[in-house]
Amino acid sequence: MATTNAWDADPRAASQPFDAILIGAGMSGLYMLYRLRELGLKVRAFEAGTGVGGTWYWNRYPGARFDSESYSYGYSFSPELLQEWSWSEHFAAQPETLRYLNYVADKFDLRGDIQFKSRVTSAHYQDASGSWEVRLADGSRYRSRFLITAIGLLSAPTMPRLEGLASFRGQSFHTAAWPHEPVSFAGKRVAVLGTGATGVQTIQEVAKTAAHLTVLQRTANWCAPLHNSQIDADTQRRIKAAYPEIFARCRETFACFLHTPDQRATFEVTAEEREAFFEKLYAERGFGIWQGNFRDILSDRAANAAISDFVARKIRARVHDPAVAEKLIPKDHGFGTRRVPLETFYYEVYNQPNVELVDLRQTPIARITPTGLATRAATYAFDLIIYATGFDAITGSFDRIDIRGRGSESLKAKWAKGPKTFLGVQVEGFPNMFMLMGPHTALGNIPRSIEYNVEWVAKLIGHMYQHGLTRADALPQAVAAWTDFVLDKGRGLLSNEVDSWMTGINSNVEGKQTRVVARYSGSAPAYRQRCDEVVAQGYRELALA
Ligand SMILES: Cc1cc2nc3c(=O)[nH]c(=O)nc-3n(C[C@H](O)[C@H](O)[C@H](O)COP(=O)(O)OP(=O)(O)OC[C@H]3O[C@@H](n4cnc5c(N)ncnc54)[C@H](O)[C@@H]3O)c2cc1C
Repeated sequence: MATTNAWDADPRAASQPFDAILIGAGMSGLYMLYRLRELGLKVRAFEAGTGVGGTWYWNRYPGARFDSESYSYGYSFSPELLQEWSWSEHFAAQPETLRYLNYVADKFDLRGDIQFKSRVTSAHYQDASGSWEVRLADGSRYRSRFLITAIGLLSAPTMPRLEGLASFRGQSFHTAAWPHEPVSFAGKRVAVLGTGATGVQTIQEVAKTAAHLTVLQRTANWCAPLHNSQIDADTQRRIKAAYPEIFARCRETFACFLHTPDQRATFEVTAEEREAFFEKLYAERGFGIWQGNFRDILSDRAANAAISDFVARKIRARVHDPAVAEKLIPKDHGFGTRRVPLETFYYEVYNQPNVELVDLRQTPIARITPTGLATRAATYAFDLIIYATGFDAITGSFDRIDIRGRGSESLKAKWAKGPKTFLGVQVEGFPNMFMLMGPHTALGNIPRSIEYNVEWVAKLIGHMYQHGLTRADALPQAVAAWTDFVLDKGRGLLSNEVDSWMTGINSNVEGKQTRVVARYSGSAPAYRQRCDEVVAQGYRELALA
């Protein structure tokens, strides 16, 4: 390990250590920076991209937008910002969200402490000095007391593991590494590989102008209508006046959305009432049909079968060709047990003459070829291949950095059989490393959880300064208790019986073929209550020195 002397002898090492190094300048990083500055800390944020925005900087693919209502997604911490910013749609598209985050960075003058084009490759805790040494891809090194990761849970894109990938001679893009310049589909033969939330958004846009679109589907997903629309002036005024109630609602709901489960069970009501309730949810905006449905649809098999049957009937009604409709109806998991993509005319796309669905379960891809691809049954020629193949979720962005704690212990190795954390914020043996949106933290409508996480970490750091403390580490018994709590909260959920990024599965990543409990699946209020207790009890689950 590097010693203090070796550090001092290295001309690439920053001479003045920072109080805190922050990795990432997405929603988490920007707000953390704001709070750390408020505490008077000397901070440097390193960001791999050339600008702020994280998810909304990278995911520039056509159709990219969030599925949280815009006014429930933006930051809530600044009443002034809330009044200044006007969302144009109920679900804003990526360019608008990126503009918003740039506006935030400018308004709070955050850019001065962010170093762009700076990918962190390693972060090593120095036992002797109790500091973190951070290395960038260009070899430069920096030191700080605190290391805060704001590296995203969906930020490490994965390509499919296919033979011949590099041989393709046409254009190809991963949706999360989309070019900054416009990409035209007009007159082109386009393939979209992947039908998760991103693929569903992309397919609807590409189908508008492509000469021919081939959708390559491995896993059919249950999609539901978004019902997006413009926000008119009157609604805008009402939204701005209602912000205190909107955020109070998000604090109360199960997953910080405006929607929360109905207290009735599916079979407590008559068949007619059930059908009418499903119809109502299907006709409403956003995640209501997933997050605001009967309380047992995600835990009771019969209840889940009822909503799955309802959505299957909708798909059959919207897709003209019955054989295509059957391919689009998931047979291996129930509604809502994987992330539900929201759509506007996704199913109708398959009624267009220029769109073809290839079921990769029936005819798997054999290889990518210089002109397209070959399945076991046919060959296809494309001008452009779009990989909507998602992310090495939750732990992927951590695995891509060589993070080492006390005694040079590797985080990746420590988490090889699944992550273990305290509150999703700390890892035992990695003193003064705080994770924002780390594994086992509350997710849901993520900015609400980000704000809570950031404020919790800022409070802890403030506490440490106030009491002359320089080191915080999670106690092993606290990690064990939190891990048990997380496992307990996941028990009985049908989603934990399904392969998805939420259960740590990614067939494109080596070592991610076994299900693990990668996320906390209890309620956000229960998460916050536990974190508040830790503070109220004087952080006794942490070793503070
Ligand atoms: C397409 C898409 C749609 C989404 N829709 C919703 C939605 O509807 N509702 C919702 O709540 N959430 C949604 N999310 C989740 C979204 O990621 C969060 O809402 C939020 O943006 C996360 O912010 P973050 O700052 O924690 O992470 P990110 O926005 O992912 O930012 C992480 C940043 O860290 C940087 N970084 C990572 N590793 C390094 C490194 N080694 N060195 C330097 N920099 C690094 C990255 O470049 C990135 O800029 C969506 C995600 C995607 C991909």
